[in-house]
Amino acid sequence: EPKRSLEPEEHEKLRTQMDDLYQRLLPSDESEGRRAQLVKKLDRLLNTEWPGNDIRVNVFGSSGNLLASSDSDVDICITTPLKKLESMHSIAMLLHKNGMEKVVCRASAKVPIVKCWDPELNLAADLNVNNPLALENTRMIKTYVQLDDRVRPLAKIIKYWTKRRILNDAAFGGTISSYTWICMIINFLQRRDPPILPSLQKKAEERKQPENGKIPQFADNLDELKSFGGANKETLPDLLFQFFRHYGYEFEYSKYVVSVKEGRLLSRQEKGWDPANHYEKEARNRLCVEEPFTLNRNLGNSADDYAWSGIHGEIRRAFELLADGCQLEKCCEEYEFP
Ligand code: ATP
Ligand code: MG
Repeated sequence: EPKRSLEPEEHEKLRTQMDDLYQRLLPSDESEGRRAQLVKKLDRLLNTEWPGNDIRVNVFGSSGNLLASSDSDVDICITTPLKKLESMHSIAMLLHKNGMEKVVCRASAKVPIVKCWDPELNLAADLNVNNPLALENTRMIKTYVQLDDRVRPLAKIIKYWTKRRILNDAAFGGTISSYTWICMIINFLQRRDPPILPSLQKKAEERKQPENGKIPQFADNLDELKSFGGANKETLPDLLFQFFRHYGYEFEYSKYVVSVKEGRLLSRQEKGWDPANHYEKEARNRLCVEEPFTLNRNLGNSADDYAWSGIHGEIRRAFELLADGCQLEKCCEEYEFP
């Protein structure tokens, strides 16, 4: 039986370590400034090249959800009615012409993107065109982060751990994306007793229909929702410890699906992702995380069963290191390839 909770002196030790780490992870004003400059620069470049096309440069991902560090990439979504930009080729050319380096165009990806490096501002960027879903789910994550003061430090520390242990690159390592981890964190907080976070999507459904008949996708009335988690008194050290305990030992991966939309777990049967189904037969123990707006999308799919068992092992490693004398630094030690 894995240790249930932290002793008072362990709790204090972990609190100090988490406070220190969180301070280090907050993006500097200088790096925030560079991010803003990049947006301005791209806005100018694009609107000079294709004037009169209402081209807007929006940030999404960690640059828009309050979970960026100084070294995070900038995720950028360009919106415009000018359809020819959607293929990304002409944008890639424009960036290249204007001094951007390492310009790579992934035109055939599900969401076509261009990657580039700005040597002047020292920033990497991922750009796509007309992807409203990404803007909307970023705004929802940001709302969750703002709802309770514990979310931001907890999520930033867990994200840092995933980065250091190479557990957050869905494209490269057969692991899962930061976005997937964030959904796991939100759902964990929705399922605490009493809950720390509500389901913002359910809150939106519950509300009286507005006059214009347009129901928002999720509730964003921060002022009213801010008191939601107040009855839960768990501290940051408790939550970090319980996060690793939960996903390391308690969660039954073969039975349940993480659902931020519902704010609870769904059974695999209810979701239709039953491991007994023929096409999911090999996916017996794999992580299942429902994308909050595209419900048939399993964000856990980027890791196959083998990759997932490695990630699961890393979650247990983190738990053991915290349970055995709160070794947060060792827990987040840079992974070394054997
Ligand atoms: P990091 O700081 O590590 O880059 P991040 O918050 O930017 O973290 P990413 O995983 O890079 O997280 O994802 C960036 C954004 O892309 C997410 O906020 C989300 O809007 C969108 N996104 C990523 N994966 C998906 C997906 N499978 N379906 C829908 N949207 C996604
Ligand atoms: Mg990102």
